[in-house]
Amino acid sequence: MAHDDHDHDHAHPHDHPHDHDAHSELGEMDLRVRALESVLAEKGYIDPAALDVLIDTYQTKIGPRNGARVVARAWVDPGFHDWLQRDATAAIASLGFTGRQGEHMVAVFNDDSQHHMVVCTLCSCYPWPVLGLPPTWYKSAPYRSRAVRDPRGVLAEFGVQLPPGKAIRVWDSTAELRYLVVPQRPAGTEGWSEEQLAELVTRDSMIGTGLPRQPGAAPCAT
Ligand code: FE
Repeated sequence: MAHDDHDHDHAHPHDHPHDHDAHSELGEMDLRVRALESVLAEKGYIDPAALDVLIDTYQTKIGPRNGARVVARAWVDPGFHDWLQRDATAAIASLGFTGRQGEHMVAVFNDDSQHHMVVCTLCSCYPWPVLGLPPTWYKSAPYRSRAVRDPRGVLAEFGVQLPPGKAIRVWDSTAELRYLVVPQRPAGTEGWSEEQLAELVTRDSMIGTGLPRQPGAAPCAT
């Protein structure tokens, strides 16, 4: 990743000297990776389509499954829920999810009165051990700037409509702190196993740009 070694202070974004690609779509590292990818593909060493599948797997499947297990555990185990609230890094590490870009985790919990959403306004700080690779949109300039200015508008574009009275809190990730959103447990899941519940937890619901899946085929009356 191009910018995992920075040490920026998000409280003063405009004072921050940037020598990485925070403000351009393609930084030096991205360009080098692309060049390398082109050469390898030309020589027949890699199949770009296979590479896309691999990246998609880490972005949407393997990576976020870790976070989904953390959320599901918090939903079923009040002791774990409290631990996650007090010391997310340790609680998450107890499930075996540790490593770079996850050394200092903070879990923020959605409830009836507030919804949390995570951004990195400067670049793409993201909790790798629980969510894997950041999606492309997370790194995009429009998301980074609009998430703070117009979170409700951004959520609408993701298809999320919150009740008008619900507050939205936006958390700006830094090199030091990475946030995990714990969405609300969907109604109608009483008695579900942790594994079943984890299936409802989407990547976007843990960034705050989505909600968990609802248990299927509930009649309109409920
Ligand atoms: Fe960042």
